[in-house]
This record gives sequence, C-alpha cells and structure tokens, in this order.
Amino acid sequence: MAELRRDPVTGNWVVVGYKTVKSDSVGLCPFCPENEHLTPKAIREYKDKDGSWLVRCFSAINPIFVIEADLKKRGEGIYDKMNNVGAHEVIVENRSHTKTMSDYTDRDYLLLLEMYQERILDLKKDKRFNYIQIFKNHGELTGSYIMHPHSHVLSTSALPQRIELEIAHSKIHYIQKERCLFCDIIKEETRQNKRVVSMNSSFISICPFASRFPFETWILPRFHADSFENLHDEGTKRELVGIFSDIMKRIEKLTNAYTIVIHSSPNVVEIGSHDEEHIPIAEHFHWHIEILPRDFRTSKYKREDEFYVVSITPEEAAKSLKEEKV
Ligand SMILES: [Zn+2]
Ligand SMILES: [Zn+2]
Ligand SMILES: [Zn+2]
Repeated sequence: MAELRRDPVTGNWVVVGYKTVKSDSVGLCPFCPENEHLTPKAIREYKDKDGSWLVRCFSAINPIFVIEADLKKRGEGIYDKMNNVGAHEVIVENRSHTKTMSDYTDRDYLLLLEMYQERILDLKKDKRFNYIQIFKNHGELTGSYIMHPHSHVLSTSALPQRIELEIAHSKIHYIQKERCLFCDIIKEETRQNKRVVSMNSSFISICPFASRFPFETWILPRFHADSFENLHDEGTKRELVGIFSDIMKRIEKLTNAYTIVIHSSPNVVEIGSHDEEHIPIAEHFHWHIEILPRDFRTSKYKREDEFYVVSITPEEAAKSLKEEKV
C-alpha cells in the first residue's frame, strides 16, 4: 500500500508505492456518456432538464489517496511516515470528449467552478483533511492519459509544499507590513502595468514576476479573499468566468498542454501556531488560480510539482539496482 513519507531534508511529503491498475476496457473512454459503468458511482452530478449529466464527480479509479480510518503517523528511526489517507476524486467537466477549455461556454465554466466549490466545501467538513487541492492536466505533455476533459480533487492531511511556502511567505509579509502580500502584488502589478494580461472590476490576470514556466498566468481576485470556495456572489462569479475563459482562449493559442491549479485556503485556521504570532491564514492568504503551460521545449517539469507521487518504493528501487548485472 502507498504511504506518505516526509523528506527529512526538505520537509516535503512524498507519496511512495503508488501503483496504478490498468483498466481492461481498452479503446473505450471511461469518461464518455454511455460508459458511466466503467467508473465508480457518481458522488455528485449536475444534470440538464432531460436528466443527462453535464458535470460528473466520482472517486478516482486509481486513487492516490484513500479514505481510511486512521493516519497511523509513525516513525522509523529518524524518519516520519503515515498512511496515504485522503480522498481522490475525478470531475468529468463536459460530455464532449474533444472540447477543450477554449471551446467551453460560460455555462460550462460556471458549472465546473460550482462543482469545484461544492467538492471543496464538502471535503473540508472532514477535519483530517488539511488541504483540498483542485487541479487539471490538459495535454499529453502533462502526463494525462485520458483525453476527455477532467479535473482532479485531492484531499490530504499533508499540505502541498508550494501552499506551505506561499502561506509562510504571505505570513512573513503580513507580520512586517500588516498587509496581504497578494493584495500588494496586485497593487504593484497594476502600477507597473508590464505583466498584466487583463482585468475586470473584480479580477486581474498577470504573468507573475518570477514565472516558472513560459506563459505562466495567474488569476487573482482584486478584493481580499482567502478561499475560492466561498465566492458565492453571482455577478462576481460571472466576472471570474469572463476572465478565465478569455485567458484560456489565449493560452490555447500558444500551447497545447497545461496544468491548472486552484490555490485556496487550507482547512486549518493557522499554521505554525507554536510561534508567538497567532495570525489566522484568512488574513494573509489570498486565493488564486495558476495556469502553468507545459510547452514541449520545457516539459522537463512533470505535473507532480505539488505532490511527488512515486510508484516504486525506495526499498524496491535499491533492491532492483543491486540486482542489476553490470
Ligand atoms: Zn471521452
Ligand atoms: Zn489579499
Ligand atoms: Zn499559488
């Protein structure tokens, strides 16, 4: 069984021993209408008035994390590990196998964003899950092997390292300046106006100052808010759909593979509460969407930049390497 191990050098949690089971339905897309029997029962579906589903969410066939009673945190000498307790769900975004995000209608976006929000809110009820991660990989370069448009929902007890870093830095900024780091970034980007791609009254999209990927783009609310899932105002949601769909049309003109992640507040009020500053994350964290294109020239970076997932355990790896005849 897969387990979570903490890298003692970086503090990062890694999923080790994750094996995928190959589906026996070769050639059939399990996410297409009529093939629902190839996937687990839906957890949640949005339907049209004829009863056909439009967006569908179910437990992943090959879950990276599994719902279990116990984390069983344990040590092994100096090392820390725990069970890969969590949830892994898949959201099929659309009935169409071939549509990409630049083909989506405003309603497609709205339903998808609502499903994201609903799943985050539902999974946050389980206090064992400290973080709910939503991401989407589009295109073969991202390692996605089912082409039908879909997203993943991962809920985990461990915080993805990038989120931990973002929270740590926004907290330092808040302690020093008594302001939200992301609000300050938005102000600075608006002032410099060199990396702003677009803006409406509630949202801004920018290519971040220290982009990791060519054409990396972030969408941020221009008002301070720590959690995406608590965005309920209909007008503001429509503005998000507007800027999101416009950006995706532009991105898809330039690249055919990308990862999208939503960075929203974790399921904890504060982290690092053992130090003197008790500052709720809601005060200094600011939700945003990151669009990370995977250009063929830069595809070295695989999709697991937030969570490393390794199929072979280091014990098995060492054994195989030793047994190799050289
Ligand atoms: Zn399909
Ligand atoms: Zn802010
Ligand atoms: Zn982020």
